[in-house]
Amino acid sequence: MQITELFGSMVFNEAVMQQRLPSDVFTRLKKIMDGEDNLEIKDADVIASVMKDWALEKGATHYAHWFQPMTEITAEKHTSFISPEKNGKIIMEFSGSELIRGEPDASSFPSGGLRATFEARGYTGWDTTSYAFIKDNVLCIPTAFYSYGGEALDLKTPLLKSMEAMNRQTLRILKLFGESNVKAVKTVVGAEQEYFLIDKSVYEKRKDLIYTGRTLCGAKPPKGQELADHYFGTIKPRVAAFMKELDEELWKLGIMAKTEHNEAAPAQHELAPIYTISNIAVDHNQLTMEMMQKIARRHDLVCLLHEKPFEGVSGSGKHNNWSISTDSGENLLDPGETPGENARFLLFLCAIIESVDRYQDLLRLSVASASNDCRLCGSDEAPPAIVSIYLGDELEKILDAIERGEQYEGSNAEEFKVGVHVLPKFSKDTTDRNRTSPFTFSGNKFEFRMPGSQASLSAPNVVLNSAIADTLMNYADILEKSDDFENDLHKLIKDVLVKHRRIIFNGNNYSKEWRKEAQQRGLLTLESTPDCAEAYLDRKNIEMFRRQNVYTEEELRARYEIKLNSYSTVINIEAKTLYEMVMRDILPAASEFSGKVAGSMIAKKTAVPNTDCSYEEMLISKISKLLAAATHSAEALNIEQTDAKTTENSTIRARKYRDNVYTAMRVLRTTLDELEKVVSSECWPYPTYGDILFSIK
Ligand code: ADP
Ligand code: MG
Repeated sequence: MQITELFGSMVFNEAVMQQRLPSDVFTRLKKIMDGEDNLEIKDADVIASVMKDWALEKGATHYAHWFQPMTEITAEKHTSFISPEKNGKIIMEFSGSELIRGEPDASSFPSGGLRATFEARGYTGWDTTSYAFIKDNVLCIPTAFYSYGGEALDLKTPLLKSMEAMNRQTLRILKLFGESNVKAVKTVVGAEQEYFLIDKSVYEKRKDLIYTGRTLCGAKPPKGQELADHYFGTIKPRVAAFMKELDEELWKLGIMAKTEHNEAAPAQHELAPIYTISNIAVDHNQLTMEMMQKIARRHDLVCLLHEKPFEGVSGSGKHNNWSISTDSGENLLDPGETPGENARFLLFLCAIIESVDRYQDLLRLSVASASNDCRLCGSDEAPPAIVSIYLGDELEKILDAIERGEQYEGSNAEEFKVGVHVLPKFSKDTTDRNRTSPFTFSGNKFEFRMPGSQASLSAPNVVLNSAIADTLMNYADILEKSDDFENDLHKLIKDVLVKHRRIIFNGNNYSKEWRKEAQQRGLLTLESTPDCAEAYLDRKNIEMFRRQNVYTEEELRARYEIKLNSYSTVINIEAKTLYEMVMRDILPAASEFSGKVAGSMIAKKTAVPNTDCSYEEMLISKISKLLAAATHSAEALNIEQTDAKTTENSTIRARKYRDNVYTAMRVLRTTLDELEKVVSSECWPYPTYGDILFSIK
């Protein structure tokens, strides 16, 4: 099959709809997809029946409401199309009501207490803006998931609401610039996905990778990524075969996988799709992760999506490229060419600067998890846990000129005036050279680099959209009242720059100096999830989400609970896994090895009485010390883990996991890594970092 034919072949997309639906139903559905109408059940019946016929032709036997509960992974309950007939036979059926609403048993999904106060039931509702697709012979219908009382129980509902907020407020701003012809505005996202690929045989020998997705111990290999010989290097044949199949499977699902390359660390790779509307991009990213894991297995590989599978080696992120697009496809983050377009661009830029500064805490929280916290430590090529914006020298100089009311170099006017003077053209080169910044302007989009590789991109986009919409609302409120638009616009931009300038940083975000400077600037350093979870309960944030109609206070409280609980659960599993590895595998192996060494020493001494046994003596003594230290540390870990686990209050519990359990794991790890260096490779029970990172020949 040709790629053009293959692309979208498993998707009930607009072309299929137009071809198969009665034209009046298609027209009405289009309106519903554009948010201009509501679906009637008789239309839903027609759509469902057409969808079913299409799916049956493609080999589907089941349908499923596909949704994204607050576990960050997708859920689906398969129901077959079969329906009994009186004569003992069956027919294949799918009704409109089955299409638009489902009632999965919600009791096993996290609700953060939302369900306790209402009913145990949860509902799924069709998101008409994201196409249905077929995966493993199942017709999957993208849906939102909510409680009996209407509270969102998922990651999609708030995202859709935040996109609506952006649409509302952006249209107000555009009107001020005389652009009343724009009917709808959508935020768009390009999600670059990083991942590791390792051989299945080494994976299966590591309990930590199996249970937790990351290595909990492991000495550094002699060769890591210091030679930088992997980045954009030649792709090994096995990996190339995996990538080829992945591309094909993604294309069938209508996912525009565009580039695939090797990343900085050995065994690390990246996939970038072409950007699309935010909610679809998030859906597609979830499917991409699922496909990566599934297809890797077919090649006897394992795809690791954890943010920090290996210490001392780059972690994996998911870069969220974000911009705002009008219904005619105009990018509102494009600086444009005329003073008018430039002014509009500068206003959006200011809204982003102000929002990122005001809601640093929420942005940090939107990417917080036990696993991503391991990556956001500012070492090994990951942005630190401090939010800042990189604009590039040129743009910053212009903002400087505006802020200070000064001349901009190159122009001979006294003061750079918004709406009067023309901005120079920024080349991509000058805007996107800083790879260390967590939030970068790259010519006509912003790239948020903090999101973790295995998390959904929903939360970061909910925060970006809601916060920016809120700031734009404020601007629209001010400017709609203005009698002198140009002057007031200039003043507004200037004021915002003066106030929020501190969030812009063009230097090296990985440096120690930046940590100090950020503190002096009053920027937040939120190292861990328990540090930033409180942002869900902060009045300013609750009010902002309420104003934008994205979250209610109850929904935020629920998300706070879920965030902390999942943090604690992850570290609890890690602690138990490490304890088991140490007690059942590592210590017995090291002890046995030292016994063997002692045995051979005795044999040597028996054969030649005064023989030099320095090697054996050194080893036995060193291993004994390390064994004793590891035993104590393992017991300490066990005690801390039990204490944390039995702590009732979720806030205190999460802090205990961070301060006591995580720390105890680190102490233990140091000893284990020392042991690994002296125990013979034959006796060591696990594949080493070298074995894993270079497992694909
Ligand atoms: P990089 O230099 O980071 O590789 P690319 O231009 O290749 O940048 O784009 C990286 C990602 O950003 C891709 O997923 C791409 O589709 C996406 N992207 C490009 N332009 C935009 C835009 N205007 N809005 C959102 N995402 C975009
Ligand atoms: Mg990138």
